[in-house]
Amino acid sequence: AAKGDRRGSCRSFEAQMDHAAQEKNKLEKDFRKAVRNGELDVFYQPLVNLESGAIECYEALARWNHAERGSVSPEIFVPLAEEMGLIDQVGRFVLQTACTEAMRWPHDVKLSVNVSPLQFRNGNLLSTVINALSASGLPAERLELEITEAVLMEKGPRPAAIIRNLRAFGIGISLDDFGTGYSSLSYLLNYPFTKIKIDKSFVLSLHEETNSRAVIRAVIGLGRSLGLTVAAEGIEREIERDYLRSEGCVQGQGFLFGRAEPAYALAVTQQLDAA
Ligand code: C2E
Ligand code: MG
Ligand code: MG
Ligand code: MG
Repeated sequence: AAKGDRRGSCRSFEAQMDHAAQEKNKLEKDFRKAVRNGELDVFYQPLVNLESGAIECYEALARWNHAERGSVSPEIFVPLAEEMGLIDQVGRFVLQTACTEAMRWPHDVKLSVNVSPLQFRNGNLLSTVINALSASGLPAERLELEITEAVLMEKGPRPAAIIRNLRAFGIGISLDDFGTGYSSLSYLLNYPFTKIKIDKSFVLSLHEETNSRAVIRAVIGLGRSLGLTVAAEGIEREIERDYLRSEGCVQGQGFLFGRAEPAYALAVTQQLDAA
């Protein structure tokens, strides 16, 4: 009976694995279809100046509204796109859509777009970005690309060369989620970053973690002494905003200032429409 039991539980484990594999398969199929049919959207979340409260930038964030599951997080579908070899296509769509949309904003409002490490692999990133700028008419100086340290882990000189080329066009380069990876000083010194974004995990825990406050202070000091803009993500409360501002953080992003919204709902777009 013991043997039978074991086999029984083994089967049910296999059945579970089967089920998970089928689910994943279905999600992949649906995602492929969504990309093909242009069912992805781009939402925009403001980055504000912590002194004045003025909106200085919007970050483009990809969205997928699945017919049955509802909104699927980019934390799920971006890795899926990477695995399925669709990230270049998705990245191109987000860049083109967002650059076109940003043309409707006041000229002093910038656009930032996330770029996957895999988009650095096939050598098309530079031309994808330049094409999106020229097709939309958006000046390179209004675009920032957000990369994570994973990009810098890619072997060989290529990411470095691509980043320098992008920078040479006038495009800003932000180091996203800073503090969660290796946070190596040599990266900061050897790549032409224009901005550091402190990861939201430090901001969300700053009231209970002395260590988070130490990291935040150190990163702000480092960024400022290197002449970079320092931004913090995940600001949900006034007390967090006030702390970051008092420590010298220039820009903030978070639910306190606004969630990601579709283009038509943005305050800046409405202003232009009304004018
Ligand atoms: P990220 O680039 O670090 O973007 C910030 C994430 O934090 C967004 O999640 C945003 O909605 C969320 N967030 C903003 N303010 C707050 C806050 O006050 N509290 C909390 N709890 N969260 C906040 P989202 O939109 O789900 O995106 C997750 C990640 O997916 C992004 O992290 C980015 O790494 C990736 N992603 C999104 N769109 C794209 C894209 O077009 N391309 C690529 N390669 N990655 C993308
Ligand atoms: Mg980002
Ligand atoms: Mg981030
Ligand atoms: Mg993050």
